[in-house]
Amino acid sequence: MSNITDLSKSRYCKGVQCPKILWLDAYKPEEAENVLSEQVMHNGNLVGDLARQYFGSCALVEFSYQKEQMTQQTQEYIRQGAETIAEAAFMTDGLYCAVDLLHRNGDGWDLIEVKSSTKVSKIYLEDMAFQNYVLTRCGIPVKRVFNMHLNSSYVRKGALDLQRLFTLEDCTETVRAMYDAVAERIAGIRSFISVSEEPVRDIDLHCHDPYECAYYGYCSRHLPEHSVFDLAGMFAKTKYKHYHNGIISYEDLLAHAKEIKLNAKHRRQIESVLYHRADETDCKKIREFLDTLRYPLYHLDFETYQQPVPEFDGVRPYQQIPFQYSLHIEQEDGTLEHREFLAKEGTDPRRALAEQLVQDIPQGVCSLAYNMSFEKSVISGLAEQFPDLAEALTDIHDNLHDLMIPFREQSYYSAAMQGSYSIKYVLPALYPDDPELDYHSLDAVHNGSEASAAFATMASHSPEEIAALRKALLQYCGLDTYAMVKVLRRLKEAVRNAASA
Ligand code: SF4
Repeated sequence: MSNITDLSKSRYCKGVQCPKILWLDAYKPEEAENVLSEQVMHNGNLVGDLARQYFGSCALVEFSYQKEQMTQQTQEYIRQGAETIAEAAFMTDGLYCAVDLLHRNGDGWDLIEVKSSTKVSKIYLEDMAFQNYVLTRCGIPVKRVFNMHLNSSYVRKGALDLQRLFTLEDCTETVRAMYDAVAERIAGIRSFISVSEEPVRDIDLHCHDPYECAYYGYCSRHLPEHSVFDLAGMFAKTKYKHYHNGIISYEDLLAHAKEIKLNAKHRRQIESVLYHRADETDCKKIREFLDTLRYPLYHLDFETYQQPVPEFDGVRPYQQIPFQYSLHIEQEDGTLEHREFLAKEGTDPRRALAEQLVQDIPQGVCSLAYNMSFEKSVISGLAEQFPDLAEALTDIHDNLHDLMIPFREQSYYSAAMQGSYSIKYVLPALYPDDPELDYHSLDAVHNGSEASAAFATMASHSPEEIAALRKALLQYCGLDTYAMVKVLRRLKEAVRNAASA
């Protein structure tokens, strides 16, 4: 858009979240972080392309940076009697939108907004309300407004069934009722951003909803090093309430502890940082946890990915599909053996993974995961999918223990954990600056999201790139279970040290 007050549907939605985003986009774009991932954009394009086939053939308005060209082509298709137009473009008074699908309905049109999500959200309604406003102002009779999204209960069987893959949710009444509010919003956004001096807008819940704002780092730079926003397990609403009441730093929180009913965990998190406390351990509880484990011990970790459009039979949109696992088998004397599985790219990984898993983990042995609810849900899904392997898989499921428990219960607590029991905080707290356990030093895959994205897109890479990605995935997942081995060692050391003290 050429003018800061020009609004497309995406700019309007940003302005609805917070008009300062638009001002910063214009004047300080270099301050933005967390741009949309390639994977999210890829999903959107894939779903958009399929949605165009939903009504059979459709006329596509080619993308052009010249918006007038797109609006002219749209008018041409309307004149020619097209039944369905994709990317139908309209412009009026500095407002512009390209409608995902415009479908002829008698003497008017149905406006269809396509989303790769599985339900309608508030911001989608805002988006559709803006489009309805623009089209109505352009003289297009909008008969009905639909949100077309994925149907989360669709399970693929054979060829893709587009009529069942998509759900058309009628949002006409809601969107029509928003017409006057859109006009007011547009005026409000325009007046907010038409100033050359940086407008004031304090941080609040709107910075995270509906999307994490890319400028949060910039707008929250006034916060102290340790603030109310670092407290683990406190609702965001409560954090902002304290923030707006001026209770921001750890010192503020302690000073108002009684008034704000600071709980014991938060007090511990704050005091351990302010008073530089050494690690605290409850050895009785740690010993109780260790006594539940039996050797050999199977440290297990899965990697999964999701497909918005299921490629394999028996899969729903966004179902977690396991494609990799790492297994460190630890004997009581500390001896380690490593096994792993990584599916071939572009294939349904589930059967081969399940078969190797039940071979690698014998019945009746004790397995360990970090945050086992995830591993348990993956194993249950496999047992449901493959009844012939269900008994062996259920055995693994039922013998799984959770290494997270001593940290969730704070039987072992270190200031560096910052009140969290996530392995991301626990591991560096137990092994600060240990290069062997440093995820940052890995090649291309450093976390679960990168692992999912790497596997999801792997088949489209060259053989050399595939080899490099596979190596990176094996390194990453292998480190996950090796990290568990090391975390367990720290727990054992804590008990040993207490016994010899
Ligand atoms: S961080 Fe918050 S206040 Fe700043 S631009 Fe984003 S939404 Fe607005």
